[in-house]
Amino acid sequence: MIIQLKPSVTPAEKENILQRIKSLDYKTTQVTTQKGTYIVGIGKKEFDVRQLGHMSGIADIHRVSDEYKLVSRKWKVNRSHIDLGDEVIVGEGTLSIMAGPCSIENEEQVQQTINHLVSNNVRIMRGGVFKPRSSPYAFRGMGVDGLMMWHNSARKSGIKIISEVMQVSQIEAMYDFVDIFQVGARNTQNFNLLDELGRVDKPVMIKRGISGTIDELLHSAEYVFSAGNEKLMLCERGIRTYEKASRNTLDINAIPILKEKTHLPVIADPSHGIGIREYVEPIALAAVMAGADGIIYETHQKPEEAASDGQQTLNFEESEQLITKLRKTFELRARF
Ligand code: PEP
Ligand code: MN
Repeated sequence: MIIQLKPSVTPAEKENILQRIKSLDYKTTQVTTQKGTYIVGIGKKEFDVRQLGHMSGIADIHRVSDEYKLVSRKWKVNRSHIDLGDEVIVGEGTLSIMAGPCSIENEEQVQQTINHLVSNNVRIMRGGVFKPRSSPYAFRGMGVDGLMMWHNSARKSGIKIISEVMQVSQIEAMYDFVDIFQVGARNTQNFNLLDELGRVDKPVMIKRGISGTIDELLHSAEYVFSAGNEKLMLCERGIRTYEKASRNTLDINAIPILKEKTHLPVIADPSHGIGIREYVEPIALAAVMAGADGIIYETHQKPEEAASDGQQTLNFEESEQLITKLRKTFELRARF
């Protein structure tokens, strides 16, 4: 059960409501986000919601049968949008394109990528400064200094930044320089990180775990929302299967399933999803047709020289072609 409280609710009214819910043997969690105050009630007992509905301080009350509550579409049929400022909106009815290198490498690379994005009217740039690498000897990112350099150039061109945060201690250092915190596939169930990201007022994109289920992804999002941050989006980035012909298997199924289960925007990452440059485009277009609200992919001026993930990275020509096709595909979908 989710109870939405009125903005004008008084402490006495809130206490009254909490006591009433507890008397029904429901465990309560109070949640205050940027957009509202909620009480999440967890319990089994059947009762007539009209018993509560009339109480002063309550704006609305919803039964949610899913185990995750606040991210469920069962109480919020209208889909969520995330406003990044400067007319950059993520969510249903828009197609967000987020492109950039796997890793931020140097100033020249950053500027070339920004020029490429600006000339194609792409507003969000991706790039890692903290890189989760399978080998400790691989390039592990430029850290906060690289992020500050990137931010300095991006802000001059009106480009928004999405970058991965790997641990709690990085949140504060990154906060002023990112527009979206990315939670990587290796951290989808890092519940301490999710809790802390729930306490900041900055959008978060959670990637699906390497072997994670859709349900687990939704529960991870519930951690962030219930800790106070509802500026959230989810990302299908491919899962590990028995198939060896591709790096991962982008689970196209997950896109319509997530869109049905949650009101949060759903983004697809075809670069990590398939891991092979030649196939990024068809998979990206398929993801748009399946209902994705955005595509995040890797591009680099010289993919063969990229510090990481070059094998799945598009050059700028390929990237430009993809952007055109993504927009055409989205227009086509909108006509259905
Ligand atoms: C990335 O976006 O470069 C990345 C490391 O992604 P993932 O967490 O999906 O592997
Ligand atoms: Mn990568």
